[in-house]
Amino acid sequence: MAEKTDFQLIVIGAGPAGLMAAGRAASLGVDTLLLEKMEQPGQKLRITGKGRCNLTNICAQEEFIQHFGREGRFLRQAFARYFSQDLLNFMDALHVKTQTERGGRVFPAGEDANDITQKLIGWAAAQAVQIQTHTAVSTLLLEDQAIRAVKTADGKTFSCQAVILASGGASFSHTGSSGDGYRMAAEIGHTIVSIRPALVPLKSSGDVCQRLQGLTLHNVEVRLLLDGKVGFKDFGEMLFTHFGVSGPVILSMSGKIVDALREKKKVEIAVDLKPALDEAKLDARLLRDMDAHGKQYFRTLLDGLLPQKMIPVMAGRCGIALDKPCHQINAQERGHLLQQLKDFRVEINGHLPLDAAMVTAGGISLKEVDPRSMQSRLVQGLYFAGEVLDLAADTGGYNLQAAFSTGWLAGISAAQQISD
Ligand SMILES: Cc1cc2nc3c(=O)[nH]c(=O)nc-3n(C[C@H](O)[C@H](O)[C@H](O)COP(=O)(O)OP(=O)(O)OC[C@H]3O[C@@H](n4cnc5c(N)ncnc54)[C@H](O)[C@@H]3O)c2cc1C
Repeated sequence: MAEKTDFQLIVIGAGPAGLMAAGRAASLGVDTLLLEKMEQPGQKLRITGKGRCNLTNICAQEEFIQHFGREGRFLRQAFARYFSQDLLNFMDALHVKTQTERGGRVFPAGEDANDITQKLIGWAAAQAVQIQTHTAVSTLLLEDQAIRAVKTADGKTFSCQAVILASGGASFSHTGSSGDGYRMAAEIGHTIVSIRPALVPLKSSGDVCQRLQGLTLHNVEVRLLLDGKVGFKDFGEMLFTHFGVSGPVILSMSGKIVDALREKKKVEIAVDLKPALDEAKLDARLLRDMDAHGKQYFRTLLDGLLPQKMIPVMAGRCGIALDKPCHQINAQERGHLLQQLKDFRVEINGHLPLDAAMVTAGGISLKEVDPRSMQSRLVQGLYFAGEVLDLAADTGGYNLQAAFSTGWLAGISAAQQISD
């Protein structure tokens, strides 16, 4: 039988956005083809949340939107139509039980990211979406500024009345998201806001991070200093690596840091290792400990204050020998220790490349997309969903919810157009 090459709707990219968009449109009776360039759909979804898939976050909508920065407003209409509770209801219908963890993050309770991906694929297939893998779309074909067909890398043409471009960002390219969507949209006149890494580990020269590599600090406050001024602060967990720093708190501020480094600003992070105690209380505690254990070495005092790996680094920064008895430590030296405990500085002078970023900042300019429908303002019948849009949030389940919500809205909008 000849291959079918005419569909009402073609969805490009079988990530969370594309699967949701295709399934939603097909559930409304639209003859839908989902084209995916990799051998399997949802390769990035399978590695989300360290394999556990942080699906969404239960925080209120306004707070949720703030996690996307200035661009967040664009999501208001999509979230008004389909938000976290809708996604949880959808998961429930797929027999996925969920649990809410620290910071409102929602994960599947018994299943992993791979199971969620399989269930999503199964759901889309059950709505009669035709899923074709190993097929990279290379070009969008227009007639009179309306979408008419797509061309694949192997030279085939599929005609359609509408296209949803859900090809993802340009990071973790081995999962399939390598920025094709930006190129295809630019070719037909869309503006692409400069692509840059977000949620990316940071580099620091000098040997401090190397000496601390592998150390995770829990419950610390990290302040971001741009040209010496506090730009942002966050509380939680960070990690030292052989090249610099990473971990949730660092990744969350990394987008701002990437931009600041581009603007040639001096970037430092200041870690408060004892955020529960203000300076006066911490100083009183140090004094008390030094008085009570005057004959003990400085090392023993630090044992009670810091993880082992940090002790030699801290002693070096304070200029106090580890075998100095506590009663010989003078007020100035105690002041140095206090300062380092409240303001442990690490200079940041770079970041890992875009491919190592969990999310791509920049993308299809939101000015050229109607937030009520996800339709292009330039090309009739073209819709966008997911990370290909100029949207990026910090960690916590926000990015996946945006992919699902914009996918859902794009699917419904395309179905509406086709039925009109
Ligand atoms: C390691 C890691 C962990 C993450 N963890 C979380 C998390 O726990 N929670 C969270 O909210 N977010 C997380 N994210 C971010 C989240 O995965 C993405 O924001 C989300 O996958 C974006 O969905 P999408 O459908 O827009 O794009 P993608 O998931 O990137 O899917 C796009 C699809 O399009 C396909 N494609 C690309 N070009 C073409 C083409 N030319 N033709 C056909 N197909 C094409 C790709 O192969 C891919 O399958 C994580 C990201 C990474 C890298």
